[in-house]
Amino acid sequence: MTETKTGSISVNTENIFPIIKRSLYSDHDIFLRELVSNAVDATQKLKTLASIGEFKGETGTLQVKVSFDETAKTITISDNGIGMTADEIEKYITQIAFSGAVEFMEKYQDKTAENAIIGQFGLGFYSAFIVAKQVEIQSLSFREGAAPAHWFCEGSTSFTLGPGTRTERGTDIILHLSEDEEDFSKPARIKEVLNKYCKFLPVEVVFEEQVINDTNPLWTKKPSELNEEDYLKFYETLYPFSEKPLFWIHLNVDYPFNLTGVLYFPKIKEQFEIQKNKIQLYCNQVFITDNVGEIVPDFLQLLHGVIDSPDIPLNVSRSALQTDANVRKINAHITKKVADKLSEIFKNDRTQYEEKWPSLEVFVKYGMLSDEKFYEKAKDFCLVQNTKGEYHTLDDYQNLIAPIQTDKNNKVIALYTDDAQRQHGYVSAVEAKGYDVLKLGHVIDPHFISQLEMKRENFQLKRVDSEVTDKLIEKEEHRESLLTESETQTVKDSFAPITEGQAYDVQVEALSQDDLPVVLTRSEFMRRMKEQARTGGGMFGMGDFPERFNLVINSGHPYVKTMANAGEEERQNMAQKALDLALLSQGLLQGEALTRFIRQSVKIN
Ligand code: ADP
Repeated sequence: MTETKTGSISVNTENIFPIIKRSLYSDHDIFLRELVSNAVDATQKLKTLASIGEFKGETGTLQVKVSFDETAKTITISDNGIGMTADEIEKYITQIAFSGAVEFMEKYQDKTAENAIIGQFGLGFYSAFIVAKQVEIQSLSFREGAAPAHWFCEGSTSFTLGPGTRTERGTDIILHLSEDEEDFSKPARIKEVLNKYCKFLPVEVVFEEQVINDTNPLWTKKPSELNEEDYLKFYETLYPFSEKPLFWIHLNVDYPFNLTGVLYFPKIKEQFEIQKNKIQLYCNQVFITDNVGEIVPDFLQLLHGVIDSPDIPLNVSRSALQTDANVRKINAHITKKVADKLSEIFKNDRTQYEEKWPSLEVFVKYGMLSDEKFYEKAKDFCLVQNTKGEYHTLDDYQNLIAPIQTDKNNKVIALYTDDAQRQHGYVSAVEAKGYDVLKLGHVIDPHFISQLEMKRENFQLKRVDSEVTDKLIEKEEHRESLLTESETQTVKDSFAPITEGQAYDVQVEALSQDDLPVVLTRSEFMRRMKEQARTGGGMFGMGDFPERFNLVINSGHPYVKTMANAGEEERQNMAQKALDLALLSQGLLQGEALTRFIRQSVKIN
């Protein structure tokens, strides 16, 4: 073509350029990803053509260059790929790419946030108009005898297409930044965005004379060629200054879908320190997003690392992803791999596994709660720890405690504490009976406990303070009350004035003499409901229920016998003291009541 012609992009909708600019403004850095990806594609196409003999020249070092001209206020993306003839520009840019952009915008426009298109992928060439007021293409096709072509468009539907000035094979996309585009008038910002999207592109990307990417990142290599050092180094590149990961899984599938990647198990120090959005999703080494919500199951989002798959549809809404067949297969695959890895470490190196358990715990339990298939595998490597610090698998533990902790209905009762220090009195009382106590104090444990009871036959968990010691595991035992019927009533009555209007259900029961004269317990059921309501799930609204206690008067205790026969005033004092002691052992005697108790205790009478 020797003449410049003007043309107009055929539109049947209103002018889309202002729409592109407006709608994608919050994601306006994606234009660089789209244009650099196109440039990379152009070089890779040339490589393919060369490999099949369609291109006979020298490919040279295939490269993409991004440059910024401060005075002209232009960003240029150059490649030495296949280039385009004027006819090809006409066809690919003004027809195909344009209708693609229109289609994208139509899809995009009525999307709410959660319905948004993942990573806003797919707008393509016309994303240039997010930041540019004018866009130019200078291109020279690889075809023998091709003439350089030049295309110019001012962000309206008309353009000019004519002879260009490029002397070497490839394409320049020149963006004349809009006046209000201050952000991208700074090289540091361009560099930042290149680092975000292009860090692992398969073709060299040069900015300010420097190659900014690793063209052959770890996940594209064969696991057999890599050692521990390589994985740790890559982790460090992804998350500088982070603690070393515990271990990792290298994903490498090519059938029935394509998936590569490396997932790391992070070290978790605090139970609330769980960080999501650490997995980066790539598509053929182009960064898409670190918000993998609909692609990776919730519990797997606690992992860190990279997944790369060209089989995840990127130009559909997020909600559509959840039902996508490939996404589901990928999910299932990752879940299985993760379970297999944990199982492998558990079997091969139990010591290491136990050491890492505090970091793995949330992950495994969360996984068991949210994924049936994961539960089936994890039930064999999920650990519980008792107050002695010993770890057991669920089956082992049940077998271990069965001989002494089976109740009269043949149920194995596991006892637990959520805070061994605070519930020390209860813990030592049940341990004195020869029972074992588990530590289950994680925020996820109330849910985990319910799940275990649902899944395991003849198995129940009770917190050490949920019943008086004797009742926790009910045997065919009967303790004798020391009180006559009228004494029982007298004792019960003496607690009426000090418990009135408060959250106590008073009852009299013969317990062991090792128990306190008065024991407070909290119903396992009610407490669990409250806990689950607090951390989501459970019965709605239960979190607001006032806490109720069972106040059990131990009619097997000599103190109570003495009390029953004491004078009115003395009996009242003894009742108060017994209640105070019970509260004290629960850590519930506080403030004024505690001060009164202390004063009372040192009084000599
Ligand atoms: P997509 O990349 O999804 O096909 P785009 O709108 O990004 O859509 O690009 C449209 C077409 O324009 C590409 O398919 C390609 O044929 C052509 N193209 C874009 N950029 C270049 C380039 N730098 N070199 C060669 N061809 C290009």
